Amino acid sequence: MCEDFETLDPGDWGEYGRVMHQAVDRAIAATAGLRDRPVWRPMTDQVRARLRQPLPQGPTPLAQVVDETWETVLAYPMGNTHPRFWMWYMGASDMTGALADFLAAVDGSNLGGGNHAAVLVERQVIDWLKQVMGFPETASGTLTSGGSVANLIGLAVARNHLAGADIRQDGVAALPQPLRIYASDQVHGCHQKAVELLGLGNNALRRIPSGEDCRIDLAALRRAIAEDRAAGFRPICVIGNAGTVNTGAVDDLATLAAICRDERLWFHVDGCIGALTRLSPRHAGLLEGIERADSVALDPHKSLHAPFDVGCVLVRDESLHLSSFALHADYLDPMERGIAAGGWLFDYGLQTSRGFRALKVWMMLKEHGAERFGRIIGRNIAQAQRMAARIDAEPRLTRLAPVTLDIVCFRYDPGDMDADALVALNTEIMMRLQEDGIAAFSDTVVHGEHGLRAAICNHRTTDTDLSDAVRALVATGDRLVGLREVQAAG
Ligand SMILES: *Cc1c(COP(=O)(O)O)cnc(C)c1O
Repeated sequence: MCEDFETLDPGDWGEYGRVMHQAVDRAIAATAGLRDRPVWRPMTDQVRARLRQPLPQGPTPLAQVVDETWETVLAYPMGNTHPRFWMWYMGASDMTGALADFLAAVDGSNLGGGNHAAVLVERQVIDWLKQVMGFPETASGTLTSGGSVANLIGLAVARNHLAGADIRQDGVAALPQPLRIYASDQVHGCHQKAVELLGLGNNALRRIPSGEDCRIDLAALRRAIAEDRAAGFRPICVIGNAGTVNTGAVDDLATLAAICRDERLWFHVDGCIGALTRLSPRHAGLLEGIERADSVALDPHKSLHAPFDVGCVLVRDESLHLSSFALHADYLDPMERGIAAGGWLFDYGLQTSRGFRALKVWMMLKEHGAERFGRIIGRNIAQAQRMAARIDAEPRLTRLAPVTLDIVCFRYDPGDMDADALVALNTEIMMRLQEDGIAAFSDTVVHGEHGLRAAICNHRTTDTDLSDAVRALVATGDRLVGLREVQAAG
């Protein structure tokens, strides 16, 4: 090879390998020592400045780049890999998933499709997830960047199938009647973005009130459908929540499936939080009816703890899935033989080039086995129930919602504060626990009541983590209330 030939490959693979091995060793040590680190710590101004540098024009030795990455990036993570992180709802990541992301990048394949092993890995993962969800073998599916896009794809198929016009060809201007989609008022925000992007507008997503239990009010749903039909709208779809983001409530999916069958509506389930609870035999019954959905969105980067990002949508009728997303450009004609044989995975979604996200799910399911995931999901639910019992027994804590899956909503309430002061107090408790690196809770509003929220989707959380955190939370609240009394007295 001529000397001035330039490539991205290293000049010395042996030296390169040593740097890489060191990075692996350090990653393993950091993950093994997670529990001894704070959940989170704020970035220093110095670190922020290091992340606002001019475009590097020349090279830097890899060892130096890796060191800088540890010091400025990996030293300040979000915290969701930590055993005491329960904010929002996300996975805690997994070392095998990290290894798989590395190996997927080494493989480098584009999962747009073609005749190579990675495509078969994705097909295999989709088949496994169909099996977990009780979907027929003939169903289709695709891995996505997450639940938001998975839901968007499901709703796009529903819209195109039931719009009463050829939306792909003629667009929403050709709709004979305005469309309506129904979901409870607890539905995730991504559905609003979806109906906006689908050209239907936010008003097309009719929010049905939820009851005390945060599940959709079925009678109100039936009334809304009848009312809309009478007023000239075209109902097309009901979105069932298999685990609401706020409280983990699971709608009555079996009845929703029956309503959709009777009303000839598409039944889409947002299972980003709860769908994979089917892996826990003790809890699978909570989701009865999900197997009858026309489409379901689920999220391996949540309860399977795959590193971000990977979501999934399954569609019962493959031909409807394809008729919404397949395209046949001449330059992408499938071949009988060679690399372009094997089919196109981009016919199932929006992306043309697609990453090899399937590998992490495939490797993690192989290494751990589905049963271990089921046990961990079941344990997180049991932990939420124990935490709820602990909260119910603590005079200064009040629970805000029933616990169905692994989410607990509650607040610190000393009993003599007005609503605004309670919001300020609970927000302050949440901030202190985060800033002191003790535990990460988020806050939310349940039926108008503000409080804190623990989403215990974490394979590293022990019972002690939870009881220590609740104790720290009460102590922080007591201290803040005590300070208030001291100030009032002074
Ligand atoms: C997380 C979540 C989503 C969005 O999924 P992403 O993976 O974050 O895109 C949608 N619905 C529910 C219920 C969720 O919890």
